Amino acid sequence: MNDVRIGHGYDVHALAEGLRLVIGGVEIEHTKGCVAHSDGDVAIHAICDALLGALALGDIGKLFPDTSMEFKGIDSKILLRRVCDVVAEHGYKISNVDCTIAMQRPKLRPHIDTMRATLAAVMGLDVERVSVKATTTEYLGFEGREEGVSVHSVALLYK
Ligand code: MG
Repeated sequence: MNDVRIGHGYDVHALAEGLRLVIGGVEIEHTKGCVAHSDGDVAIHAICDALLGALALGDIGKLFPDTSMEFKGIDSKILLRRVCDVVAEHGYKISNVDCTIAMQRPKLRPHIDTMRATLAAVMGLDVERVSVKATTTEYLGFEGREEGVSVHSVALLYK
């Protein structure tokens, strides 16, 4: 059997009025955006952590410290590309990634396919290997109160 690795990632960002909202590499028109040192792309951060988790390499905070000015306001797609390079350097390929975004508003469905295409292009994968799903939390919890966004992700790697 091939060497297969699975990884899980989870990220949360607070929402605040007047900030850009960037999720899954796509800018979405909304009144609120994610509070962050980077562009706050909570989906990409969770995917990065899933990829790094599969190789037990820690998390993106370890790779890209939020105290570093190099990463201030950085496009998270650059971070994802770097993480994919790390995966390749370790001799692994990405089989597929999946993520679920928990956000009450706005509706993300119209943006899902653009997110998948954007993420697939950054990772050098066929789009059918990249899954993005979105759910509300039925007005429950911080996501439901529109105080924040959370994303879960899993990734499968193989040699
Ligand atoms: Mg984050």
